[in-house]
Amino acid sequence: MRLIFLGPPGCGKGTQAQRIISDYRIPQISTGDLLRQAVRDKTALGKEAKKFMDRGELVPDEVVVGMVKERLLANDCKGGFLLDGFPRTVAQAEALDRTLQKMKLKLNAVVSIEVPDPEVVKRLAGRRTCPKCQAMYHVIFNPAQNQNVCDKCGSELYQRDDDQEDTIQARLEVYHRQTAPLIEYYQKQGLVKPVTGMGSIDEIYGRIRQALGDRAG
Ligand code: ADP
Ligand code: ADP
Ligand code: ZN
Repeated sequence: MRLIFLGPPGCGKGTQAQRIISDYRIPQISTGDLLRQAVRDKTALGKEAKKFMDRGELVPDEVVVGMVKERLLANDCKGGFLLDGFPRTVAQAEALDRTLQKMKLKLNAVVSIEVPDPEVVKRLAGRRTCPKCQAMYHVIFNPAQNQNVCDKCGSELYQRDDDQEDTIQARLEVYHRQTAPLIEYYQKQGLVKPVTGMGSIDEIYGRIRQALGDRAG
């Protein structure tokens, strides 16, 4: 299964991705996670990317496209993959199409998770993230059992620098201007599966599985 998760920041892509990758046994490729790792490692790419991320802007296409191309060549992508947070611009989508064409691979579906802006703001403002296993929590909607400790791996949870009110607004604007047009881009390829992103995490997961032609597992 070769999938893309599309949707505004905070719509639940990462949360739902964790369930998909365990049920379908495919790797999650999150450009956000890859970039944050580069920032933590203080690589040249990480230092450059951080400037854009802190402002809620997109990192330049060449940078993320290069990262994804390399990642897709890894052995664990042979049986499929889930792209989470990529592509985010039409240029990135075109680059991905070219890359997959060269690899003689086709996408199966683009799951478009729909959540209105005010809900996105609430979700992002209360988000807590595990730095180690990428599990996602929310202080109210999906709290960890022990306040600030990851249920899965015991690491200390943190709040992302870009999950602050003014950066959240900037990211939403960027989403509507640069990323939302991808829905139409993939509609033209007949790949879009719209899914309502409101409701419980379980309900939404059921809808995604149904959209992919499966019963919820
Ligand atoms: P969220 O899922 O909350 O929207 P991400 O973790 O996907 O956030 O992304 C965090 C930041 O990393 C983005 O605001 C952007 O600066 C950068 N980023 C992630 N993916 C991409 C991408 N495909 N293209 C450009 N920038 C990206
Ligand atoms: P994305 O990867 O799209 O940025 P996340 O999966 O990180 O989104 O989710 C953003 C925040 O919303 C997290 O704090 C997460 O716990 C919370 N969240 C995810 N799904 C739901 C849901 N169905 N209802 C309420 N909160 C949710
Ligand atoms: Zn963890």
